[in-house]
Amino acid sequence: MKVYHVVYEPSFKSADIHFWTKCTLACRSCYTRYETLDFGLFDDPIESIARKPPQKPPGNFLTPGKVLDLLKGREVDRVIFMGTEAALDPDMPKLAKALHDKFHSYNVMLTNGLKLADMSDIDEVIFSIKAISPDLHRAYTGKDNAVILENFRKLAGSGKKIQAETVLIPGLIEATEIEKIAEFISTVDRSITLRIDAYFPAGDNPWPAASAAEVEAAAVLARKHLNKISCLTLDMKRTGEKPLRLF
Ligand code: SF4
Repeated sequence: MKVYHVVYEPSFKSADIHFWTKCTLACRSCYTRYETLDFGLFDDPIESIARKPPQKPPGNFLTPGKVLDLLKGREVDRVIFMGTEAALDPDMPKLAKALHDKFHSYNVMLTNGLKLADMSDIDEVIFSIKAISPDLHRAYTGKDNAVILENFRKLAGSGKKIQAETVLIPGLIEATEIEKIAEFISTVDRSITLRIDAYFPAGDNPWPAASAAEVEAAAVLARKHLNKISCLTLDMKRTGEKPLRLF
């Protein structure tokens, strides 16, 4: 199995399980190239990543049994499957089931949506939509988005609980593109929540950080199409205790 890092958040009884797979996209702002550890472990992850050169990929991986051992004796209400692309690990469904069986956890998986996995034991999916305009999507991720958008429709139509997420990148993925994403989601179901994350610089990318005002301006456009928009801005502070690194 490709789990290389596990973090536990005592305040939320939540575990973050990080997978390292060969991602199907090559997003130009992918943070996993510069930081393989959970952002929650840093007091200021934005400052830390801004100065980092590309990191070595992780080399030590855990079996599903070892992940359960690490969590033994803790209350685990929620588990987040994240990293590069958890859906690409053939053992992910087995781990999700084991966590359901042992902890009755609420399992959430982040995905880029290009390849759907067996999600029988995933309770909620956070589905990233990078861009709607085909040329922009190709320029940013290296791949076409037709299958991703089709998979979004398919998954939402299957009754799986789903939330959408995107990143506002000033000078690249602008507010008008975020509105197109919201418009697309509304053709599936306007009650699906869209979270807009603020980009922050990493590596030698040319784009500046997205301000809270820019994120709010994109949210205003997106709200024309969807009932609920949430925003993740760079001025937000950690809530709860500092997470614990279990592996
Ligand atoms: S989908 Fe996520 S993990 Fe994959 S390249 Fe893009 S940002 Fe990185």
